[in-house]
Amino acid sequence: MDSIQVFMRIRPLSEDECRRDRTMQSAVRILSENTVSIPSQRTETFTFDFVGDQDCPQEQVFEAVGKRAVDQCVKGYNGTIFAYGQTGSGKTFTMQGARDEFTGPDDELRGLIPRCFEYLFARISEEAIRTSGRVKYLCKASYIEIYNETIYDLLDPLIRPCALREDIKRGVFIDNVTEETVQNPSDAYDVFLRGTTSRHVSATSMNRESSRSHSVLMLVIQSLTQMDTGLTEIRESKFSLVDLAGSERQKLANTSGMRLKEAANINKSLSTLGNVINSLVDVANGKSRHINYRDSKLTFFLRDSLGGNSVTSIIANVSPAMCNDAETASTLRFAQRAK
Ligand code: ADP
Ligand code: MG
Repeated sequence: MDSIQVFMRIRPLSEDECRRDRTMQSAVRILSENTVSIPSQRTETFTFDFVGDQDCPQEQVFEAVGKRAVDQCVKGYNGTIFAYGQTGSGKTFTMQGARDEFTGPDDELRGLIPRCFEYLFARISEEAIRTSGRVKYLCKASYIEIYNETIYDLLDPLIRPCALREDIKRGVFIDNVTEETVQNPSDAYDVFLRGTTSRHVSATSMNRESSRSHSVLMLVIQSLTQMDTGLTEIRESKFSLVDLAGSERQKLANTSGMRLKEAANINKSLSTLGNVINSLVDVANGKSRHINYRDSKLTFFLRDSLGGNSVTSIIANVSPAMCNDAETASTLRFAQRAK
């Protein structure tokens, strides 16, 4: 199995984009089930594992991306899903859905996060039944934001900065991060909503946009298996859902102070993510390479969830608007490097 899968999703034109360009032509041409090009840019074609057009339902994204990650996590592997793309391309729509509160399992517009939670807890109950209760699961949620290369705990009411640490037993972890035990999909979704609300409140009070930080919602899933010997075997996997900072080219000209630092940090962490993914692809192809996880907080934090014992998916979100064609091409080039 490919350890890194890449999915591309084109959102519908917004009303504003329709007004700006009355031809309403899409900048992205779908050539086949999984190949696209951007004719206004260059003649290159891009091939992915899955291409969703503007009519692609949330359900289909979950079937293609979410299920596999959850299934692997229940089996003890780590799973990571990244939403990549320029601000406004549909990352949050893909991860969370069309609105904050969803109305339950019939809400078709709910995104990957609530769907994955529902599926995860359903799979866990199935396993308990299948093993007549010999396997039990324990899930803990944490939710952090990385802004300007500093990690903030979104479940801490004071949103304090936290340090990344590493030890032999635990691997890479965040010191004193809040972890909440979650027992069902709505517990987990409540934690997510609470952290998301804090994220917006703190961004506003700091006079910045949340599109300039990465957020990582992580579920640590422990399986406790009662062995015939009477001992309990504990296995742990991590399921991470990452809504990345907007990937649009950062304007460095006429920028200074905090905004410049912010822009440079976004560039650096996204390019480090690209480099790490690229190295992982090389390693998977039998080339030996050093992987520079330590070059950014995001990749170092996720080190144990990228490569090795894990499945990683990238969802490249793009706008179909002609005015965004250069950003769309740049998103697809980033995503193509993972193949
Ligand atoms: P981002 O998180 O990348 O900045 P959003 O997810 O906030 O972008 O999307 C921007 C706008 O486009 C939102 O109003 C969102 O509801 C809408 N949108 C994004 N993707 C889709 C989609 N696939 N179908 C319908 N509307 C979408
Ligand atoms: Mg967003």
